Amino acid sequence: MNAIAEPILTRRLEALLDQQRTAFLSQPAPDLAKRRRQLARLRSAVLAYRDEIETAISADFGNRSRHETGIMELAGIIQAIDYLSRRLPRYMKRERRHVGLVYRTGQAYVEYQPKGVIGVMAPWNYPVSLTMIPLATAIAAGNRVLLKPSELTPRTSDVISRLVTEIFAAEEVAVVLGGPEIGAEFSRLPFDHLLFTGSTQVGRKVMKAASDHLVPLTLELGGKSPVIVSRGQVNEQTLNSIVFGKLSNGGQTCVAPDYALVHEDDRDRFVQAWLETVARFYPDGPTSDDYTSIVSDGHHARLLALVDDARQKGATVIEAGLNPERSTTRVRTMPPTLLTDVSDQMTVMQEEIFGPILPVRTYRTIDEVIGYVNARARPLALYYFGSDTNERDALLQRTTSGNVGVNNTILHVAQDDLPFGGIGPSGMGAYHGIEGFRAMSHAKGVFIQGRWSLARLLHAPFGKLADFALRMTLGRPRK
Ligand code: NAD
Repeated sequence: MNAIAEPILTRRLEALLDQQRTAFLSQPAPDLAKRRRQLARLRSAVLAYRDEIETAISADFGNRSRHETGIMELAGIIQAIDYLSRRLPRYMKRERRHVGLVYRTGQAYVEYQPKGVIGVMAPWNYPVSLTMIPLATAIAAGNRVLLKPSELTPRTSDVISRLVTEIFAAEEVAVVLGGPEIGAEFSRLPFDHLLFTGSTQVGRKVMKAASDHLVPLTLELGGKSPVIVSRGQVNEQTLNSIVFGKLSNGGQTCVAPDYALVHEDDRDRFVQAWLETVARFYPDGPTSDDYTSIVSDGHHARLLALVDDARQKGATVIEAGLNPERSTTRVRTMPPTLLTDVSDQMTVMQEEIFGPILPVRTYRTIDEVIGYVNARARPLALYYFGSDTNERDALLQRTTSGNVGVNNTILHVAQDDLPFGGIGPSGMGAYHGIEGFRAMSHAKGVFIQGRWSLARLLHAPFGKLADFALRMTLGRPRK
């Protein structure tokens, strides 16, 4: 679908959407068995394409290990599909609701009805799981789906397109390939729901575009997620978790800890422990086989500029694992970089980093930490390392973020029964598990009136019974 003149492109996308909508209207309520069959087909195809996916992702990034793709993407997709499939009978079940006294003998219930055609727009950083988990959720909820993967991982997007075309008819699920122009056209379509994962800046444009047709949105965006290390908590477990969260996928993870808040007494120990842990995880530094490259020249240049800007404004830059003797042909490698002596005037403390750079800020009291977090945009995730429950509860109660991890980073995303989503600039709405099912379903309230009902009191001609009913509800009229 690349490079098509705009009006033709719009007509083609509209035709695809119309085809899916017509198919949906002819079979609007797929039963449990059909949804499970579709999920099973998706599961088998992801496993069948495993090798192609791992190869394509590594080629798109420059380097990404098969293990990382397996752990950070494929395992999560299979786990989410299995979880949804198992839970579907419960999710799809009609929910009985309370009826008021006057309406007794009637029945009220909520039916979770598929919305229709769902648009899914995905970023490049986890290009397979961020298309496949929304797709699995949408089909579990009984919908048709148009998918728009990222242009920055073209080989992976091509594999996704072939995988989907092999197992679904275009009227069930279809893939639209292309860059920002196609994304802009895509976000203008009159979907029944649109799930966008990407940056806050593009999220704003998508929301504007979707407003023309009042398309309901789930926005999964980014932001600066802090990791707070309690006084005296710089230890092996803490650093293992922080280095894992920060350096997996070369730091290109939406819920990665963006910056660290470390007690001033622990700063030097933190720097030392960071260097030791990075050396254990990645013995050859940025040229280690398990270390992921930066996805594009543009992103690489942006990250180098962040470090330069910080250096010029007084930060100490500590790069780990650089070995000038070891030559490499690897493209766009960026060493794990710790920044100390940072200030808020540095760009690195203002923008989402999305790379292997960890600025470390020191604090004296937990109130100071809470004030710092609350003075900034609400983050997608917040992490706390420590065992002081008062401190932890203060942080949890007095700050607002998408999700929280205590004594771990990023693992909240792997909990299928937790909603996943940000708040404010880091997102709107949530998916995964029941929240995802419900976001892509219409909660239709139904009231069925019983044959014998006091509801006739509600209409004319009014008489003593209506007076009685009003007295029961509103009390005696004031004279
Ligand atoms: P991006 O916003 O640049 O792109 C996301 C998608 O939008 C792509 O498919 C792209 O083609 C499309 N797009 C680009 N310009 C567009 C436009 N003008 N109109 C409509 N669509 C357009 O994001 P990215 O660089 O691919 O991904 C990185 C960002 O995504 C980071 O900010 C990260 O935090 C965020 N992210 C969030 C989550 C989450 O679940 N909350 C997950 C992964 C990444």
